[in-house]
Amino acid sequence: MKSAGDRELEGAAPGRYWQRLADGRVQCDLCPRHCRLREGQRALCFVRACRDGRIVLTTYGRSSGFCVDPIEKKPLSHFLPGTPVLSFGTAGCNLACKFCQNWDMSKSREMDRLMDAAAPEELAAAAVRLGCRSVAFTYNDPVIFFEYAVDTALACRERGVKTVAVTAGYMTADPRREFFRVIDAANIDLKAFTDDFYRRLTGARLGPVLDTLLYVRHETATWLEITNLVIPGANDGDAEIDAMTRWVVDELGPDVPMHFSAFHPDYKMTETPPTPAATLLRARDIAIANGVRYAYVGNVHDEAADSTYCHGCGARVIGRDWYELTHWGLDAEGACQACGTRCAGVFDGPPGRWGRRRQPVRLGRGRP
Ligand code: SF4
Repeated sequence: MKSAGDRELEGAAPGRYWQRLADGRVQCDLCPRHCRLREGQRALCFVRACRDGRIVLTTYGRSSGFCVDPIEKKPLSHFLPGTPVLSFGTAGCNLACKFCQNWDMSKSREMDRLMDAAAPEELAAAAVRLGCRSVAFTYNDPVIFFEYAVDTALACRERGVKTVAVTAGYMTADPRREFFRVIDAANIDLKAFTDDFYRRLTGARLGPVLDTLLYVRHETATWLEITNLVIPGANDGDAEIDAMTRWVVDELGPDVPMHFSAFHPDYKMTETPPTPAATLLRARDIAIANGVRYAYVGNVHDEAADSTYCHGCGARVIGRDWYELTHWGLDAEGACQACGTRCAGVFDGPPGRWGRRRQPVRLGRGRP
């Protein structure tokens, strides 16, 4: 009798960005890990594997569930505010963060969790039917389900639906180019500003993440926001936050919003305490002092620090209470109603009215 793993490999889709090595193994070149696999072996991200001498993706068309979320939850504060986004993820991850806040999905080895199935065209059609302005690849990193994400983004474009990527940005140059060509907005994690942190606590490297941030900001039309998960004792020092936010302003410019988000004890870092709200406010203050125009706190309740202020006159232009809009002071083009200064972002007429609701949806098919 065939194992579940064998069945997974049989139903897998062809992967891209790989090469055959002289010793018979195949090498995946999608992310800087460059996993080298023998026949039947799974990669570090678990969802890519070697079958019949090729790299395959075992999660194409399969999801751990679909949900309509507020766009503010991604978090994206300057991209079609107030609108609903059809969100989904698969399983696995190409980083190995000891502090993972989503480990039941990202570290999942139980592919049977992927009960919902939807082809790219079905997802795009569902977004239209549900009134969603965008589809988000989130819950786990879309880099590892690259082929499914790109095909879904193309299907969404055909129907006028935008796409959002929530990602650690850990990928190589060629797939990066192809991926962001079809992505309308991204929230990229900048988990820390030292290579030592990345190596010790994520198993990855800082350099490729910075390369992705620079590429997205300067070479694409993708709207970019950054999330920094602030972890007590690990990346919360003033000097590191100062260096990070200076780099963001110098290299990416003042208009890239930064979200300083609270850690909660999880996965392999259950001994580390949760981030105090005061730490997030300190990080936000440092960012603003260094010239970041839009700095927010996340995972804590603070309406003042989660609202948007005009960088021209200081007026509050978007009020937020958790994921709900409480105030709107922009015109249809995103300019401040008080002074006319344009707020950076993607705005399209009046804000959406989705509110803070989170609505799980089934897209009709069980597991293929
Ligand atoms: S995407 Fe997965 S298989 Fe490919 S190099 Fe990265 S971790 Fe390895």
